[in-house]
Formats: sequence, C-alpha cells, structure tokens
Amino acid sequence: MDFNLTAEQRLLQETVRKFAQHDVAPLAATIDREAAFPTENFKKMGAMGLLGITVPSAYGGGGGSYLDMMIVAEELGVACQATALAFGTNATLFNDNVLRNGSEVLKHKYLPGACAGDLVAGLAMTEPDTGSDVVSMQTKATRQGDGYVLDGTKIFITNAPIGDVFIVYAKTEPSRGAEGISAFVVEATFPGFRRGRAFEKMGWRGSPTGELVLDHCRIPEENLLGELNRGVAVLMSGLNSERLVMGALSVGLARGAYEFALQYAQDRRQFGQPLVAFQLIQDKLVAMAMHIEMARLLVYKGAALMDQGIRGREANLLASYAKLFASEMCMTATTEAVQILGGYGFTKDFSVERMMRDAKIHTIGGGTSEIQKIIIMRQLLASR
Ligand SMILES: Cc1cc2nc3c(=O)[nH]c(=O)nc-3n(C[C@H](O)[C@H](O)[C@H](O)COP(=O)(O)OP(=O)(O)OC[C@H]3O[C@@H](n4cnc5c(N)ncnc54)[C@H](O)[C@@H]3O)c2cc1C
Repeated sequence: MDFNLTAEQRLLQETVRKFAQHDVAPLAATIDREAAFPTENFKKMGAMGLLGITVPSAYGGGGGSYLDMMIVAEELGVACQATALAFGTNATLFNDNVLRNGSEVLKHKYLPGACAGDLVAGLAMTEPDTGSDVVSMQTKATRQGDGYVLDGTKIFITNAPIGDVFIVYAKTEPSRGAEGISAFVVEATFPGFRRGRAFEKMGWRGSPTGELVLDHCRIPEENLLGELNRGVAVLMSGLNSERLVMGALSVGLARGAYEFALQYAQDRRQFGQPLVAFQLIQDKLVAMAMHIEMARLLVYKGAALMDQGIRGREANLLASYAKLFASEMCMTATTEAVQILGGYGFTKDFSVERMMRDAKIHTIGGGTSEIQKIIIMRQLLASR
C-alpha cells in the first residue's frame, strides 16, 4: 500500500493549487454575488488541459487518471465551488462519459471542443417528477427517419441556461422500464431544443442550474451514446466517478473553510488570548482537520480502485462511502467555520458564509445522503 502521490501528481497538485489561489479565489465572491458562470476560469482550465483530464490526447485531453481528477477537483473546490463545478461537469459528467461510452464519431465530434473549453457541457437526467427514482423518467425518444425525436422536460440541470451540449437520458422503450432507457448527445442548436427557467439558488450560485425542454427535438442517429436501451449501463458507468468527484469537491470546500477558520482563530483575541488557545475552539479545528483527512482517504481509495480497473461491489461501496462521508463532513466543517468566526462569520465580509451556503447541495446533488445510505446498505447485505 503506497499513500504517496507520484512526482507528476504532486506537480499537477502544485500547478492547480497556484492557479486556484492566484486566478480563481480572487473572483469567487464576485462570481457568487453576481451568480455569473466563471467563463474566464473555464477558458483557462481548457487551456491548461484540465477539462479533459482523463481523455487521451488523441481527442484533445490530458490523458490523466481518476486520481488526477480528484486532485484537481479538491484544489479548485478550496477556491471557488462554481469553478470547481464547471470543471467537474465538463471533465466528469460529459467528457469522461463520452470517452467511456461514445462511438469514435461522437468522440471526435465533441471531445476536442469540450476538453478545450470551447463547449460548455452538461448531463440531464433529473425531471420535475423524477429525482432519486431516476428510472421512472418520462422523457421519451421515438425513432423517426434516420434519427430520434425527444420529448420531455429535464430539471435542475447544471449549465442548462448556457450550455452548448448535453447528455440526455430518455425512454426508448417505456414498457421495458430500466431496460428501455437510452442516452443521447443533444446540442443546444438542434431543432426543438429550448431552455426553460433558470433557478436562483442559495449556493453554487455561479453554476447555472435550469430546465431543458425537448419539444420534438430531432437527434441524428449517430448521437446515440452507447447502445440502444442500454442507457442505464451508460449511467451506471459514470456514477462512481461522479460520486468521487463530489466527494473531492466537498473535501476542497471543507479545507477552504478549515484553513480560513484556523487563521482567524490565531488572529482574533478574546479574554486576552487568541481564540485558538481555547480548548473548545481547538476541539472544532481538530475535528475539521481529521475528518477532512478521512474523507480525502476515502476519495483517493475510490479513485485508486477505478484506476486499477476495479468495478462492482467494492468500488460502488467506496464511492458511496466517500460521497456520503465527505458531503456530510463538509456541511459540518463549513458550519463550524462560521461558528469560529462568530458574528463576522455570519456576514458577507468573510468567505465562510458563502462556503456554508455552497456546502448544502453536496448532501443533495449526485444522489442524496439518504440514497447513498440505501446503496451502501444494499451492498453490505449483498456481501453476506
Ligand atoms: C444545484 C443543483 C444541480 C444539479 N445538477 C444536476 C445535473 O447536472 N443533472 C441532473 O440530472 N440532475 C442534477 N441535479 C438534480 C439532483 O441530482 C437531484 O436534486 C437529486 O438527485 C435529488 O432528487 P430530487 O431533488 O428530485 O429529490 P427527491 O428524489 O424528490 O428526494 C427528496 C427527499 O426525499 C429523500 N428520498 C427520496 N427517495 C428516498 C428513499 N427511497 N428513501 C429515503 N429517502 C428518500 C431524498 O433523499 C430527499 O431528501 C441538480 C440539483 C441541484 C439542486
């Protein structure tokens, strides 16, 4: 067992950390206040090769590993969640998915643009009446001529208000339940594609979230992603990396809050002493530091399993452990950071209030905490 990062991974970590601290962090408060997509950061991430971190260079990517992806997600997550999510959505939800499941035609058609930052991408699964129970989705895809026609509405889709291209799940054979779902790559320019409402949110404000309306939207046959009626396989193939990236974003956010609170506790004095001298404050900081390390170990182990090609029960369990533990830990850590700053923590003068607002979605998006517990229990019972 080797817990050390390679020299290349340390260099990647250092490079992204510098970028995150110098270029990204100074914009984070404005991005949050103005609820503006971080276009400048997104373009820079494309130029740095981050958006296609796991994609081979033949398709315009960086040719890295899942562990590399987690390292990048954590560093960006410390500085700005909207930027980190823009990374995760292109790199994990779209590019890695098209790489795993797409035909050569689809890979050449979309990966170079989505890796370079020329295309803002997304993935659309959730519907107004279908959240955790994904398989009961209502969006339909009907064969017509030499393509498909999609009808339905997707909701809460990251980048829906501005994105160029989306993976969309739809029922191709509704009577077959989970075995009648397919995945498609849908461009915003396709006839019948429309953007619905955009949501105003408490956190992740610089990551636009909205509805996609597919009103007789025509899709060419070549834009079927994976096999017909095998959409659940496409979906399942990405769940672990998506959960691990959410875990890494949580680790980054919690680390940002911890580092801020630790510095504040050293600077702020009450009763003639710095806050950090009080054992009740030390207790909070110790718990934050220890739980961040524990969450990172789960994320790294999950990514290492994926890099070793290990799939199935062990990998599923690790990904859900990492997502559940890291997201709940992140909510607690950011709340404690606000507590350590006292009244100042509750104001917009300091970044911890933004961090606490950004943390809440981590226990909801990408499969809620309750759903992670259900998955974990199922895996535990299956192993007996
Ligand atoms: C900011 C944001 C970005 C998002 N981005 C995307 C995206 O890019 N693409 C996409 O497809 N979706 C996206 N989502 C949707 C997200 O994945 C869903 O919100 C999430 O899966 C939960 O679904 P739901 O909101 O419909 O909640 P519901 O499924 O209605 O759940 C409501 C509550 O009931 C609980 N619950 C549900 N079923 C059970 C059960 N069996 N046992 C116990 N408790 C249960 C849940 O845990 C939750 O607490 C995003 C959401 C947000 C808010």
